[in-house]
Amino acid sequence: MVVVMQKEASEEAVDRVLSEIRSLGFNPHVSEGEERTLIGAIGPAPTEEVREHLRALHGVETVVRITKPYKLASREFRHDDSTVAVGDVVIGDGAFVVAAGPCGVEGRDQLGAAADIARRHGARILRGGAFKPRTSPYAFQGLGEEGLRLLEQTRERTGMPIVTEVTSPELVEVVADTADMLQIGARNTQNFALLAEVGRSHQPVLFKRGMSTSIAEYLQAAEYILSQGNPNVVLCERGIRTFETATRFTLDVSAVPVLKELSHLPVWVDPSHAAGRRTLVPSLALAAAAAGADGLIVEVHASPEEARSDAAQQLDDAEFGALMGRLRGVVGALGKSL
Ligand code: PEP
Ligand code: MN
Repeated sequence: MVVVMQKEASEEAVDRVLSEIRSLGFNPHVSEGEERTLIGAIGPAPTEEVREHLRALHGVETVVRITKPYKLASREFRHDDSTVAVGDVVIGDGAFVVAAGPCGVEGRDQLGAAADIARRHGARILRGGAFKPRTSPYAFQGLGEEGLRLLEQTRERTGMPIVTEVTSPELVEVVADTADMLQIGARNTQNFALLAEVGRSHQPVLFKRGMSTSIAEYLQAAEYILSQGNPNVVLCERGIRTFETATRFTLDVSAVPVLKELSHLPVWVDPSHAAGRRTLVPSLALAAAAAGADGLIVEVHASPEEARSDAAQQLDDAEFGALMGRLRGVVGALGKSL
């Protein structure tokens, strides 16, 4: 259930409600809305008596039951769009944010060249995998901690905050020490131990949808992060598995408005992993922006054909520049800036 506080409710009134919620055996989660404080109470299904008791407390406007299996992620919990700050970049506040960079960190020069391309054309966040969850154990697995050091140095030089993937619970601490945003990849969407650990870290999270995860399963997975006390989650559609083989995955464009309807969390799209081929990436990126996404994560490499992973889908300097130019037109038509 959600306890909706009155606009003018005092801090003492909020504290009193929090302690009542705890003593009733629920876990409270506070969310500051634009006008009022909301308190999510997670626990067993509340009886009418419990709701009446809370409703009668000083400063409480109303108590609402959340009917969805995901609670903190749902629009029933929070009506307003939420925002997530990554360094000095705010996601979900109406500006369209692009993260770009190579699939994997391969070396200082490779990362630096991709970062320069990304920044020059207007990307605000640098991506790059140091720990790579590859389908084959024989494929390039990433540079690991050395990759994190290179990301750190490149952030220092470019000023761009960094998003990089974390692949297991034991790595959360070391990756969170460097990254401004932790990425959970499609192969780990339902790795609940990893999600809970990332939830305890309080770092912003770029949480990708699994390739075979329904929207309801995806939002319940997000709940594993949120319920540990980390509200800084950005959802990301990256293509799902269908019968179609012309693309690497099928970008579920409808996931954008569906997630926006069901959840207050910001929604991004990854057109690179959905498409699997660089010629398709711009169209999917523009479609995502037109469908109402809050941003994109796009793979960029100075010499894509030499990339050690995902060579076919990374954009070079000219291709990324052209895409950003066209994106400006689409997001501008929607009243957003890039
Ligand atoms: C990635 O972003 O490098 C990646 C592996 O993506 P996904 O988890 O969506 O396949
Ligand atoms: Mn990749």
